[in-house]
Amino acid sequence: MEAPVFPAAFGFHATARTERHRAPGAAFATLGSHTDIDLSPPGQTFAATLVHHPQAAPEGARARDGDTAVLLAGELYDREALRSVLPPGEEADDGAELLLRLLRRYGLHAFRLLNGRFAAVVRTGRRVLLATDHAGSVPLYCRVAPGEVRAATEAKTLTADGPSRGLPLPESRRLPGLPDVRQVPAGTVWEVDLESGTTTAHPTWRPALARRIMPEDEAVAAVRAALQRAVTARVPAGSAPLVVLSGGIDSSGVAACAHRAAGALDTVSLGTDVSDEFPQARVVAEHLGSRHREITVPTADLLEQLPYAIWAAESADPETIEYLLPLVALYRALGGPARRIVTGYGADIPLAGMHREDRLPDLDTAVAYDMATFDGLNEMSPVLSTLAGHWSTHPYWDRDVLDLLVPLEAGLKRRYGRDKWVLRAALADALPAETVDRPKLGVHEGSGTTSSFSLLLAGHGVAETAVGEAKRRVVRELFDLTVVAGRHPSEVSTAEAVAAVAARLERGAA
Ligand code: ATP
Ligand code: MG
Repeated sequence: MEAPVFPAAFGFHATARTERHRAPGAAFATLGSHTDIDLSPPGQTFAATLVHHPQAAPEGARARDGDTAVLLAGELYDREALRSVLPPGEEADDGAELLLRLLRRYGLHAFRLLNGRFAAVVRTGRRVLLATDHAGSVPLYCRVAPGEVRAATEAKTLTADGPSRGLPLPESRRLPGLPDVRQVPAGTVWEVDLESGTTTAHPTWRPALARRIMPEDEAVAAVRAALQRAVTARVPAGSAPLVVLSGGIDSSGVAACAHRAAGALDTVSLGTDVSDEFPQARVVAEHLGSRHREITVPTADLLEQLPYAIWAAESADPETIEYLLPLVALYRALGGPARRIVTGYGADIPLAGMHREDRLPDLDTAVAYDMATFDGLNEMSPVLSTLAGHWSTHPYWDRDVLDLLVPLEAGLKRRYGRDKWVLRAALADALPAETVDRPKLGVHEGSGTTSSFSLLLAGHGVAETAVGEAKRRVVRELFDLTVVAGRHPSEVSTAEAVAAVAARLERGAA
């Protein structure tokens, strides 16, 4: 099954009200055309601004039937299976219309059927449903008050609002500096009674806790098939996909599957003046015959883009931002027409790829911990690439791939002294042996991001023991400026934030 090149919408800002109301304009980090839509019932409000690729047809992001109206940002990967459960004559191709028909048949349990990368808002009578995909990979934020629900794929669009009228909501992430904004958890539908603001949470997906024993051959074949399916569902019709390639096993595996699905492939690698993985990526590009590009960004420029990474991710977690910064810099440096980008992001979480020793109890503890705490970090947010107009998607966090990888018993993940063994074995025939055997190197390490950020702080007199704390403060300061105060990242300087934090730390230490 082929994917369209771009989803009908990258994101939205929506308002549901019991009265008529004109929604304020929204300032997205996402780059794209804006289309205002109005799905309001008589005397009430359900209106939105969609942000989308200029050539995408935003009609696919909205649907309406009687007193039910649906808004959908992002895309679904199990469209064929979803269509197959609809009665003859009621099938819809894709997007919001398909979701609307599933809602008619299954109620809010429809969200339990979806394997996608999306955020959705549904207004149905007096209720508003706010839904995330299993991974919360398209962040969804809201402000809820009696008589009004505002929801958006970017928290910063919810700040320019009158006095606080927030209500207690089910357990959820709060954002620093945005006291009334809540993030809908991953794999959840919030059902809001519009008049009272009373909100009930319905989980739609949870990572498995049980572990599954499988013979080697069976596990390897299952992983190969699931990854190929997930990549094929993410590859655009009739054009070469673009894979962001490090030459590590995760992105190389995705590149091999994408090449098989499309018959052609573009790849791109990022390096800096201090470090790169260019030779390792080239081995894969040559093996697959991809059209390959190398982009070098000096670390000083990379660090100056911290405000962009934070503005896009809307996360103040310094470790997450360090992983994401090189990718944001890569997306911004791509130039040319907007692309659909396939990444190898996220394989290490279900496979404990960061785990570098043989003790299986520790490995499974890492998997359980990481699967319980990924939510709210926004590592998978499409805004990281849509801020430069590109749509990105992550096949390792496909719902079916996760449902296979997470429960595999730890001995299949670490075997014969190799990390991510089952994945390496699944890709052994598709990639050069040196790629299959290559040890893990994180993007923040391979690009020198972590060490350059530490050096920048040390250069401002921050003691080695205070570097972690200083990074936390710099990231928080940049978050406050870009997400909370709404400053454009081009007007915000990493160097100034670093100097201010270093000075404060020194005063505090004195
Ligand atoms: P491994 O985990 O074995 O190193 P990997 O490098 O593919 O495999 P990560 O290091 O976890 O995976 O990086 C996450 C993803 O980010 C990669 O799969 C790839 O899509 C992208 N990426 C990482 N480094 C680069 C790079 N230097 N250039 C382009 N893309 C990169
Ligand atoms: Mg790597």
